[in-house]
Order: sequence, then structure tokens, then C-alpha cells
Amino acid sequence: MSKFEQVTLNYAMDAFEPVIDTLTMETHYGKHHATYTATFNKLLEEAGVADKFNTIEEVLAGLDQIDEAKRTAIRNNGGGYYNHNLYFCNLAPLSEDVHKPTGKLLEQINKQYGSVEKLQEELKTLALGQFGSGWSFLSVKKGGELVTSKSPNQDNPISEGTGNTPILALDVWEHAYYLKYKNLRADYLDKLFSIINWDNVGKLYETGL
Ligand code: MN
Repeated sequence: MSKFEQVTLNYAMDAFEPVIDTLTMETHYGKHHATYTATFNKLLEEAGVADKFNTIEEVLAGLDQIDEAKRTAIRNNGGGYYNHNLYFCNLAPLSEDVHKPTGKLLEQINKQYGSVEKLQEELKTLALGQFGSGWSFLSVKKGGELVTSKSPNQDNPISEGTGNTPILALDVWEHAYYLKYKNLRADYLDKLFSIINWDNVGKLYETGL
């Protein structure tokens, strides 16, 4: 049995038409994310560290405890496993009433960025500035301050050793949008913001405080 499993989706693969097409969802979750997950579990076994870590966060924060020969592959596949769990759990169909930040998260966004739109602009700018494959992230620092960032490949604020906890991950690998949006990463991001489950991001924010 694999120790680390993909997040279970509480929506159908066609739930985001026309924002994200069904084939992209099926390929992204069913092939890309599934392969990162299977490879990650296999690498942990091969490196003899499957029982050393209890959580994915521990693995990504403890890469220096892994044999150098396997470290980069575990960083890439473990990051791919983690980043996609965060990406997929923070999406919700347009019909659901969860697409606006509320409560403590909204207060903090307004305090630091002025508005949700300004925060989204900043995340979009970072995502567009990521040359090649990667991600942009919204994270929380101990104490509640929000931090935006971008990472190449399957890195993230945990594997980069920032100590911050990611609460939203925007995938800008071409596999996330190319079938529908071709080279238009900005259009994909504009539409992606319409299906973010801010309700869930808010829960993650309060957990990370
Ligand atoms: Mn992806």
C-alpha cells in the first residue's frame, strides 16, 4: 500500500467546463498527479526513508536527511505530489458559493493588499514571471502574515526552506492549460481565479495561523 495518496476530489472531471476542459482535468489528475504520487512513494521505499517521515511536509522540510543520490528526484516528485494536492483541493465548481474569501483571511488580504483583486494581480504577475514550468503560491507565516511567491519546477515554499505554509497553489506548467489555452497563460490564470475555493483556502489559512 502506498503511504501517500492523492487528494480525493469532491467534484467531477467535467465540473469546470468551460474554464478547465475535461480532458485536461483527466490527464492532469489521472496521469500527471498520479505519476508523481506513484514515483514519490517508490522513491521513498528505494531510499529507505518511507518510515522516517509521517507527513509530506516533513519530507519536503527534511530533504537534507535523504541520501543525495535520491534527493533531487524526491524533491521533484514529492513536490509534485504535494503541490497538486493543494491545487486540486482548492478548486470548486462555479455553481458553489465558495469563491470569495471571508472572515480572517479576507481581513488579512485587505490589510496587506487592499483588495482580493490586488492580491490576485500579484499572484498572476508572479505566475506570468515564472519562466518555464512552475507555480505561484499564497502562503502564511507563523503569526498570520500572508506571503506571495513563485517557484520553478515542483519546488514550493516548504522545500525551499522558508518555513511558511502554502495555502493556495496556482499551477502554471503547460500541462495545466495548454490543451485549451495553448500559449495564453494569462487567460488561463484569469479564468482559474473564478473557480478557486476561497472557502477552503480560508480554512487552510486559519489552520496555519
Ligand atoms: Mn500540474
